[in-house]
Amino acid sequence: MYCINCWHDNTRVIDSRTSEDWKAIRRRRECENCHNRFTTFEKIETTDLIVEKSWNRKQRYDRDKLEDSILKAINKRNISISTINDLIRKLEFKWWTINEITSKEIWKDVLEALHSLDEVAYIRYASVHLNFENANDFINFINNKKFN
Ligand SMILES: [Zn+2]
Repeated sequence: MYCINCWHDNTRVIDSRTSEDWKAIRRRRECENCHNRFTTFEKIETTDLIVEKSWNRKQRYDRDKLEDSILKAINKRNISISTINDLIRKLEFKWWTINEITSKEIWKDVLEALHSLDEVAYIRYASVHLNFENANDFINFINNKKFN
């Protein structure tokens, strides 16, 4: 990272934190040459994340697809789009440091996040991803709250 004051190419990170909206990492930097201090924002790039599906099929992580599946689960629930965007961003932060993830790990993380958000959305999401076939599957799931 170049210093914006003297163009020296060594700057030191003195503080890092996520921005309040979880959209970026805010870094405070100091130039080793002129000691000028400035702030940079790093945005998360999740397009590099590879998702391993069943039968070893691999795909690029698709945020829109994930958002769609969650929106279906929260249909007619009193949950705002921005709440869902926050939820996805937080998960993306978690997945950010890894290069590969299985689709199962993704929906397990989503389930966990939905569980603390809305019970109905949680059960709906589980019913799709665990392939519930009848009322018994719902009852068993609600009684056990286990996902394998
Ligand atoms: Zn400088």
